Amino acid sequence: MIDYFKNVWTWFYTILVGMKITLRHLFAKKVTIQYPNERYPIPPIARNRLQLDPDRCNGCLQCSRICPVQCITVETMKVVPDDPEQPKMFDGTPRKIWVPRYDIDFAKCCFCGLCTTVCPTEAIKHTTDFEYSSYTREGLIYHFSAMSPEKVEEKKKMLAEWTAKQKAAKAQQEKQAQASNEVN
Ligand code: SF4
Ligand code: SF4
Repeated sequence: MIDYFKNVWTWFYTILVGMKITLRHLFAKKVTIQYPNERYPIPPIARNRLQLDPDRCNGCLQCSRICPVQCITVETMKVVPDDPEQPKMFDGTPRKIWVPRYDIDFAKCCFCGLCTTVCPTEAIKHTTDFEYSSYTREGLIYHFSAMSPEKVEEKKKMLAEWTAKQKAAKAQQEKQAQASNEVN
C-alpha cells in the first residue's frame, strides 16, 4: 500500500518538474510577436530589397559592373542632341543616356550593397522590404526602367535616324574633301 502511494507521488512530482519550465514561461513577458499581423521594426540601414529611382539613374553601368553575381542588367541608349523632349535628370541637368532596361534578379542578389556604394547619384538604394517571395523565378526579376515599350521604340527610331544623318553628313564631307584634293 505504501509503495502504491509512493508511486502516485513520484508520478505527480515528475509532472510538476516537467511542467516547471512551461509554467515559468506561461507567466513570463512575451518575446515573440504575431507575425504577419505584427512585425519587428527593421533598421533603416538594413540591406533588403533594392529600389531604383529612374530619375536619378544616368546609365553609367557602374552598379552592374561591380555586382559580384551579375544580377543587374542595364541597357542604355544615347539621347540624340535634337531630341524635342530634352530629357532632364533629377537635378535638372540634361540627360545624355536613356535607360530602357534596368532589371535586378533578386533570386541571385546576395545583398552585398556594392551597387549602392558605387552609384554616383544614389539612384539605387536598399529598402526595408524583405517580404517579396514569389512562386516563380521570373517573379523575382524586377524591372525598374520608367520607359514604356512605345517610348523605347520611339527613341530607338529617333537614334537610328540621327545616326543615319550623321553618317550621311560625314560621307558628304569626305566626298567634298576628296573632290577638292583632286582639283588641287
Ligand atoms: S546588392 Fe550586391 S549582389 Fe545585389 S545587386 Fe547589388 S551588387 Fe549585386
Ligand atoms: S543605378 Fe547608379 S551606378 Fe547604376 S547605372 Fe544608374 S547611376 Fe549608374
